[in-house]
Amino acid sequence: MNAAVSDPNDTGVKVIVRMRPLNKKEIAEEATHVISKLSPNSLSLIDQQFTYDAVAGDDESQQAVFDMVGLPMVENCLAGFNSSIFAYGQTGSGKTHTMWGPMPDSGSELMATEERGVTPRVFEQLFSRIQQEERNNVDKQLRYQCRCSFLEIYNEQITDLLEPSQKNLMIREDTKTGVYVEGLSEEYVSNLEDVTRLLIRGLANRRVSSTAMNNESSRSHSVFTFVIESRSKSAAEGASSVRTSRMNLVDLAGSERQKQTGAAGERLKEAGNINKSLSQLGNVINILAEVAQNGKHRHIPYRDSRLTFLLQESLGGNAKLAMICAVSPASSCKTETLSTLRFAQRAK
Ligand code: ADP
Ligand code: MG
Repeated sequence: MNAAVSDPNDTGVKVIVRMRPLNKKEIAEEATHVISKLSPNSLSLIDQQFTYDAVAGDDESQQAVFDMVGLPMVENCLAGFNSSIFAYGQTGSGKTHTMWGPMPDSGSELMATEERGVTPRVFEQLFSRIQQEERNNVDKQLRYQCRCSFLEIYNEQITDLLEPSQKNLMIREDTKTGVYVEGLSEEYVSNLEDVTRLLIRGLANRRVSSTAMNNESSRSHSVFTFVIESRSKSAAEGASSVRTSRMNLVDLAGSERQKQTGAAGERLKEAGNINKSLSQLGNVINILAEVAQNGKHRHIPYRDSRLTFLLQESLGGNAKLAMICAVSPASSCKTETLSTLRFAQRAK
């Protein structure tokens, strides 16, 4: 149906680098660009060249980024593959802008503006495609049922963003249901408005908890999960079949190295734990890319962090992944930009 699904060279991981424009502060400081787009899939950082699946320059629209990443992932998900979109990069590089768009004071803006990010657009497309599929398969009585959850991982602890009194939730594994978060609320949704309400509720809770935690939202991972169940009957036998797939939209914690100066006790433990989910995600993706390349079997340490354990069934196997690596073009960010570009390259 589309290239992402049928391409035999597809390792399941698609890596995109997105640069943001210089911000006001950088312009005021007369910062220079250290990074430039060379072609649709390559860029240079000073004199080093890097190649990815795609590169989005600083003038590329939210729609263009959605077309690169969101559109194929929606099709993957409808075709029955677990699909995830991650935003990786240092704090201030454009992860949240890319995943959500500008943070509005009132919810409706999140969905209305041309600047809305990948996540709102994914749901627009999903619901429109679901309606289309149901219309085209009336004879099979094709019906979709969708539900959502929204959580945050901070300091290796899971909080339910839809029910924030639910803290420190545990991940369980069960042969029948697979990996799940015990006690996490899931809500049924049947249209875009339902999802918008949940997104806004969760994002508001995220902001509340981040203020309480000394504005450390840049150090938490947020995971929005959308589960699609489709049921259909074959006309001949009348037997019904069920297919389940999920879409994870993940805004990762800032990838910058934590400053160790002055960190002691809880703070130090926190810094280590935050890096744990992030570095373990990098590890798992590297191993998966290696396995895809040489076909050798290897143990994949999903359980070594909350994030990778939680997403276990969406990382390996037939799962599809898009990693959007966000970078700043400014000379002052050069070291972190280089580290992000290297991370992005290893993921392939
Ligand atoms: P992060 O989530 O990685 O910390 P943000 O998404 O909050 O970073 O981006 C930092 C700032 O830069 C925000 O004010 C955001 O609006 C702006 N920004 C990021 N990416 C872009 C872009 N592609 N175009 C315009 N502004 C951007
Ligand atoms: Mg952010």
